[in-house]
Amino acid sequence: MIVIDAGHGGSDPGTSGNGIVEKDLALNIAQYLYRRFNELGVPVKIIRNSDETITPDERVKRILDAYGNNPDVVVLSNHLNAGGGDGHCVTNV
Ligand SMILES: [Zn+2]
Repeated sequence: MIVIDAGHGGSDPGTSGNGIVEKDLALNIAQYLYRRFNELGVPVKIIRNSDETITPDERVKRILDAYGNNPDVVVLSNHLNAGGGDGHCVTNV
């Protein structure tokens, strides 16, 4: 089972450069992955499917609510960092 977490969203744009905003590209990639896993018959849920603000606590809650705290779940948390700085990982489930 797969849970897809599109990084950032809403009032949290993440990084940006060359006209690309991280939250938008992360969502596009997440939606593509969601469609493909569905087509392949892999159980998958997406925790953000629009440009919405999600607090770190809410993000973790949604991930855990998708299939429970289950060792058979893989969480894909999409980020596209500009390089140099720290990562953005807020989940550790
Ligand atoms: Zn990020």
